[in-house]
This record gives sequence, C-alpha cells and structure tokens, in this order.
Amino acid sequence: MKRNPFFLQLSPNYLFRELKNRVDNFALLNPERSLISLGVGDTTEPLGTTIAESLSQAACDMRDQELYMGYGPDQGLLPLREKIASVLYQDIISPDEVFVSDGAKCDIARLQVLFGQDAVVYIQDPSYPAYADSSRLARSIVGKEGHRLSYLSTLPEKDTLPHLEAAPEDAIIFLCSPNNPTGVAFQRSELSSLVDIAQRKNQLIVYDVAYRAFIQGDLPRSIYEIEGAKKCAIEIGSFSKMAGFSGIRLGWTVVPKDLTYSNGITIHSDFLRLVTTTFNGASILSQRGGIQALSPEGLEEIERQILLYLENAGSLKEALLKKNFIVSGGEHSPYVWIKTEHTSSWDAFDYFLQETGIIVTPGIGFGPSGEGHVRISGFGRPYLIESAIRRIESL
Ligand code: PLP
Repeated sequence: MKRNPFFLQLSPNYLFRELKNRVDNFALLNPERSLISLGVGDTTEPLGTTIAESLSQAACDMRDQELYMGYGPDQGLLPLREKIASVLYQDIISPDEVFVSDGAKCDIARLQVLFGQDAVVYIQDPSYPAYADSSRLARSIVGKEGHRLSYLSTLPEKDTLPHLEAAPEDAIIFLCSPNNPTGVAFQRSELSSLVDIAQRKNQLIVYDVAYRAFIQGDLPRSIYEIEGAKKCAIEIGSFSKMAGFSGIRLGWTVVPKDLTYSNGITIHSDFLRLVTTTFNGASILSQRGGIQALSPEGLEEIERQILLYLENAGSLKEALLKKNFIVSGGEHSPYVWIKTEHTSSWDAFDYFLQETGIIVTPGIGFGPSGEGHVRISGFGRPYLIESAIRRIESL
C-alpha cells in the first residue's frame, strides 16, 4: 500500500515531542533543578461540582431501561443546541445551525473535506497549528497555480489585523479570537472590516472561538455579532478551555443556513452530510455535561475557573513587563505571548528553561511569524504560577 503523500507535507518533528526531548535532556543534566511546566495549554482546575454530577447522572441514566440512549441525533442533543444558541449566542443563531462535535480540533480537520483539493487556504500567523496541519493533510499545498497554503502574519507588536486583501477571491481563511498563542482578541471594528473584505471577495472565514469564555468587556465573542458574517463565516467552538472538557471532549460548529458556496448551494446541507458520514456524534455523557455547564449553576462554576486562569495570566504578564519583555495577551486569554531578543524561538525556549526552569512553548510551533517569540500559559495551579513569577522576578 502506498503512503498518502500529503503526510510528507507535515513537519516531521511534532513540536511537543521536540519540547519533551529538550526538557528530558535538561532534567538529566540538571537533576537538582525543579521545573515548572507552563508550556502545553491544557486546563488544570477540576470540573465544577454540578457539572461533574451531571456527567455521573448521565452515566447512571444509561442503566435505566427507560432512559437508556444509543446513538444521539445527527446534530447533537436538541437541549444542548438550544442552550448553545440562547446562552452563548443570545439567539443570533438558531439551534438548527449548531452541530455538536467531539471538540474543535476534530471539526477543524473534518471540515477540510468541504473545501476539496483545490481550495486555497490562508492562515492567521501565528495561530493554532491544527489549521495548517489539517490543510496540509487535505490537499497538495503546491498546485499548478502556486501555493495553496499561505500565512497572514499578525504579530501584536506590528499589526493585529490579518491582511485579508492579500488573499484571493474564494480563499478559505482561518482566524482565531482570542488568538492562541498571542492572546489578542479582535475589536468589533477590526472584525467588521475583515467580514467586509471576506464578503466582497467571496472568501470563507473559519472562525475559531475556543477561548471565547476568556473575553472580558465589550469585544465580540462571536463573528456573528458582526453584520454580514452569516454569509461568509463558519464558527468553531469548544468546551475544552471554557469548562475544563479537554479530556471529556465536546465542542460545536455553527454553519449558518444563509452560507453558500460560490455556486449558490448551501454549505449547511453538505456539513450535515459530512458529519453523518464521518462522525456518529459526541458522547451523550459529554453532551449532558455540556447542558449543565450552560445552566446558571454551571456558568458560575465555569466563570470561577476562567477568572482564576485570567488572574494567573495577568500576574505572569505583569512580572514579565517589569522585566521589560514585550508581551501581549493575558487579558482576554489564558496565554501571554513574549517577544524575546532571540531570533530563534527554540533559543528563547532554552533561555527560559536554563534561567528560570520554566517550560514555555517556542513560537515557531504556531507558524513562521512565531520565530523569536515564546508562549507562556496561565493554565496552572496558582502555587506553581506564584513560584514561576518569583523566578521571573529574579531574572
Ligand atoms: N482551537 C484552539 C485555538 C486551540 O488552542 C485548541 C486547543 O488547544 C483547540 C481548538 C482544540 O480544542 P478541542 O479540545 O475542542 O479539540
């Protein structure tokens, strides 16, 4: 059997494997040093009590002849889709437009099938690596017409707005707000200008709101808050960072009914066909947990966790600013993005490891514009964050 040649387009060394090798080597050579891991962006706080209880109740219900469920509905449990539409979107979208998933990453990869082999993809840079990797696996990135995968550099110290004008008509554009790794969230006027360009150029925006729960104040939490977005955007969300569901697995994708391909056919019907063909739905247990997470008690539990992570990130940011680092994020995001004086982000990674024992993530893992930068995460137990801050202060 021949190997799918698109695998050759992936970078051979997965970032976190290389990171682990470097950390293991360092630990071997420096057994007396204690390390603090603020590299991998995974949640650390336990589930809220009522959310955890709803998960176990859902499992117990499966023992009951009357309550047992096999496969769920194609788009997900209706009460969950209703809650997503009303609680998270204040009904600017309808439950029919919500597709419940087993997480944002899975849908980022799944929806590549919608666009086919010839699609031209533009990716905000730096950003979550799954956009580039799933695009590389879905098609040849070099075609007769040139490159089918390009980056839109968006560095906070230079320009927060991706230059969509540079992307051609019909391009697929991956955007993330608040962005992982820079922590920057789009302002309303910025997002409005992006939607205007996308509409004019018939581009499709795939808008990732995995960190929407971290937004404070009046910034848009969804692209659909912007007029016209229903005609040019798909939105992908997740319960992972919002409710600590990274291991439980639950997310959603919004595909507006008004959204069409250039030939006028609705994308919604193809997306439904796609999920029924390639996915049999998120676990009923996680969906029940998601319903509770969006209840008044669940939302309080979530809010407490979000505030704790934001406090962690804010304190890290403050300590770094005092040491004259150029930083962004930490206000609407659990991440702080650091511009260092190193040209290579692996050198910057080694600097933090050697000088502080703090494990950060090298910026290059998020795209070419990440060079010279690292990301530090506010996902961590508060006592570890305090210890990390003391180490930064003594730099
Ligand atoms: N989108 C972004 C921007 C992320 O940073 C992550 C995970 O780190 C995901 C999506 C993945 O979310 P999920 O756990 O729902 O697959």
